[in-house]
Amino acid sequence: MLETLHRIVQEVNAAPDLGEALRLIVQRVKQAISADVCSVYLTDFDRREHILLATEGLNPDAVGKVSLPMHRGLVGLVCERAEPVNLDDATSHPRYLFIHATGETQYRGFLGVPIIQNRKVLGVLVVRQVEPRKFDDDEVTFLFTLAAQLAGAITYARASGELNQIQHTRSPLNRYLSGQPSAPGVTTGQAVVAYQLADLDAVPDRTTDDPGAEITALKEAVALTQQELKSLKLRLSAELPVEEQALFDALLLMLGSDTLISQTVERIEQGQWAQGALHHTIEAHARVFDNMDDVYLRERASDIRDLGRRILMHLQLDKPREILYPDKTILVGEDISAVQLAEVPIERLTGIVSAMGSSSSHVAILARAMGIPAVMGVTDLPVGRLEGLDVIIDGYRGRVYVTPDPSVRDEYARLAKEETEIAVELEAMKGLKAETTDGTAIPLYLNTGLISDVMTLGLEESEGVGLHRTELLYITRDRFPGEDVQVESYRQLLSSFNPRPVILRTLDIGGDKPLPYFPFSESNPFLGWRGVRISLDHPEIFLTQIRAMIRADIGLNNLQIMLPMVSMVSEVDELQMLIQRAYDELIEEEYEVSMPPVGVMIEVPAAVYQIDEIARRVDFLSVGTNDLTQYLLAVDRNNPRVADIFDDMHPAVLRAISQIVEGAALYRRPVSVCGELAGNPLAAILLLGMGVDSLSMSAGSLLKIKWVIRSFSRARAKSLLQAALRMTDARQVRGLMEKALDDMGLGGLIRPGK
Ligand code: PEP
Ligand code: MG
Repeated sequence: MLETLHRIVQEVNAAPDLGEALRLIVQRVKQAISADVCSVYLTDFDRREHILLATEGLNPDAVGKVSLPMHRGLVGLVCERAEPVNLDDATSHPRYLFIHATGETQYRGFLGVPIIQNRKVLGVLVVRQVEPRKFDDDEVTFLFTLAAQLAGAITYARASGELNQIQHTRSPLNRYLSGQPSAPGVTTGQAVVAYQLADLDAVPDRTTDDPGAEITALKEAVALTQQELKSLKLRLSAELPVEEQALFDALLLMLGSDTLISQTVERIEQGQWAQGALHHTIEAHARVFDNMDDVYLRERASDIRDLGRRILMHLQLDKPREILYPDKTILVGEDISAVQLAEVPIERLTGIVSAMGSSSSHVAILARAMGIPAVMGVTDLPVGRLEGLDVIIDGYRGRVYVTPDPSVRDEYARLAKEETEIAVELEAMKGLKAETTDGTAIPLYLNTGLISDVMTLGLEESEGVGLHRTELLYITRDRFPGEDVQVESYRQLLSSFNPRPVILRTLDIGGDKPLPYFPFSESNPFLGWRGVRISLDHPEIFLTQIRAMIRADIGLNNLQIMLPMVSMVSEVDELQMLIQRAYDELIEEEYEVSMPPVGVMIEVPAAVYQIDEIARRVDFLSVGTNDLTQYLLAVDRNNPRVADIFDDMHPAVLRAISQIVEGAALYRRPVSVCGELAGNPLAAILLLGMGVDSLSMSAGSLLKIKWVIRSFSRARAKSLLQAALRMTDARQVRGLMEKALDDMGLGGLIRPGK
């Protein structure tokens, strides 16, 4: 038996695809243990069924067509128990289910083992016998081993899209490509493939004997690229306000940066031709960002390469292609860049699908800001075959339907209609106060600074800025920004919101996101040199920033300063002394400045347990739930392997926030929440129930959260919170809140349709 097992495992391993692996397993297993039937069922939790995926012994026509309901039958029992079920006479078991469509006779002997990967049941491997038969231990472990083998093959097939093909005979609603839900909404349109411009990697090294001419060509190409970006920025400026365009400014800054051009020129002077020199410089710059853990920063690598391709295109004297965009364009591509997105006339762009990227990509952020559904990271996207095809995007669930069936079309047309109705209802929220049905107001603030968090809506609908991340100003440069540069940037933001308050957060860089000109590496960056720890070790960087913030506020008086990553009370004391010093210096220099309120972000568990000591010392507190969740649950917020257990609705996180609110109340300090949790419709009510004073979120969430708040009373929020705090895991909390939103007719905020 052992030998047979080894042989089968080897054969399955060598199978070219899942179809072949399945065929081999059912055939060989049936033979090896002399069973009458061997079948594999695939479990589909969405559709709550087990689909017959392969069989040897049952009617082959039933494959892909017959499915067993989730919680019925013996296959269902194996799945529920996630362990083998071995019965000598299945027909006498209460869960026995007779299925005609598979051409069954009454099989009595039954052995089913679950196919499990990462604790999740993917399917069930079953052998059956007409005669009563209890399978022995050896046979059970034999099946077990093969099931583990199959689990790997199924997981791979799911990721590569192969499973979709195998399931093609099934309901058309289940035939879709999967990716990361990156901007909500459903939409139908025609695919336009955004392909890469000139290929940098294809540029060979070549020597030149006329470096002067090569340098001139390079400079002309750079100037043309500059013009192009400026006009794209101008085109978008009607749609998106100043801050949105920061991305284009960042690209233009990079283009103008000394290092990029001078390093290329240097390479040309050493004998490389312009195209080769450009290729090497771009790669060197991009690689710095490639290795960063922080997704936002890794994105810079794509930006830099995109920039390089644009310059190369001009060097190669290519003209950008003229594209005819259909009225409802769905932009599809391998790795769509924000600039490619900007090239589509905005009124024609209805959706975005990208094989690479994630929900934190710039494109995704832009899509959310513009209200355009997007699915990123669709790893099996057949980009080359999509041009002109009809596509449906479900941005809530990360699904892409290519040339959908009429039934899918109808279903999505219905959902889209409901979405429009929801959009109308959301629109009606504009200008209204965010207050509960029993009159508790909870001001909503805006998070800004991440390339494109602000939009006109944000400016109009928020009570101010609850968190401005200042890192971008540092990242997009080739050296630390000077005081004057910073003053200009902060002043712009402070004035556009004046007199509403704007909270500027001091620099929060760290081991995972070093600045290119301030490199260091650590084996455990999230527990390393981060946020205020760097500020305290480098007071000159901190003081320059504080001086710039206070100067920017002259005559405006709406600045508040916030300190990130505080884990010790002494840090607050020391930083406050530095802030005082910057202020005193400015007064000495005869600036007419005023001292702004100073607050602390609570995002490290230690700060939660010393909340009263911290609250006593500062003017306000703001909970950074992204980091707080990471540190409380010991789950890296950027690690895809543990992404499914990073859950900011975990009862432990909720308890910690409650504790923060209670601690702050002792000294009557206001508490805000500025992490992602604040913009989550499922969580807002719980935060309200805790007595949080305000919420700060990205622009796309403002109206949704307002709608949720206006639908509940404070009393109901408190009772939901009590129930949530008694729960043991995040899944239960989500279930509770989904039901609460559904009951209020707000289900449309968390899934397609109403
Ligand atoms: C947070 O940690 O919740 C937060 C708002 O800060 P950042 O996401 O910038 O770390
Ligand atoms: Mg943080």
